[in-house]
Amino acid sequence: MIVTRFAPSPNGHLHLGHAYSAIIAHDLARDTGGRFLMRIEDIDGARSRPELPEEFRRDLEWLGLKWEDVPSQSTRLEAYAQAAQSLRNQGLLYPCRCTRAQIAAASTQMGPDGPVYPGTCKGAVISEGEPVAWRLDVAEAMRRTGPLSWQDALAGEQQARPDLTGDVVLVRKDALTPASYHLAATLDDAADGVTLVTRGQDLFGATHIHRLLQALLSLPVPQWHHHPLLLDEGGKKLAKRRGSPSLADRREAGEDGIALAQSLRMDQMPGGITLSR
Ligand code: GLU
Repeated sequence: MIVTRFAPSPNGHLHLGHAYSAIIAHDLARDTGGRFLMRIEDIDGARSRPELPEEFRRDLEWLGLKWEDVPSQSTRLEAYAQAAQSLRNQGLLYPCRCTRAQIAAASTQMGPDGPVYPGTCKGAVISEGEPVAWRLDVAEAMRRTGPLSWQDALAGEQQARPDLTGDVVLVRKDALTPASYHLAATLDDAADGVTLVTRGQDLFGATHIHRLLQALLSLPVPQWHHHPLLLDEGGKKLAKRRGSPSLADRREAGEDGIALAQSLRMDQMPGGITLSR
């Protein structure tokens, strides 16, 4: 059975790009008698807004989608901590005290996630009690797993290249948000029984890391479907701060959500919006 999910972060309103993503995940499950889940990814500390998950539910209902709610990330911190501990026990994490600015200044390579961490803290001695993030030693992890591959429904078979992203943070410095997106999403997709991870092409690079984590943590390996992104008139990803109305704005203005969902299904985007290819 196909199990898909929509996994919004409650740090901003949903817009058309989210609607497109949710509809793809919903329809891929519905068309095969599968399950479509919604998971709220609310571990972004101070940026998470508690009122937004209810708004997201109203948005999905307005679009005519049916889904099952699964536990939100903030209720799963114990599982993230246990997985991080298991990776530490395997000698695959190292502590890092670098700031974003230090990394940007020291990095010489751009990866899919931004500047590649140059390994500054690998092997450094860090004093007890100092706030640190924990990074995955990707080269060592790949040495242990050997070559890995994964399957994208649109792009086909991919060789996993987590080395392109580099030593990602799995446990954040900030105590409010102990697990990083990579660790939390990978564990949750396994715990929720997701068999087809649908999300935007902007997260294609993240999947190389997720595939590596699945191998290290003995998790089941789903398939992926990275869909094109909706772009605004300037060719940029839609964002409320660049003036794209949110789904809530459209709903409150009396727009017909079901009709909007139908036009997104036919790739008929409202004025000026295009699809990335
Ligand atoms: N929470 C992520 C976001 O809102 C989605 C992550 C995913 O689909 O894997 O961008």
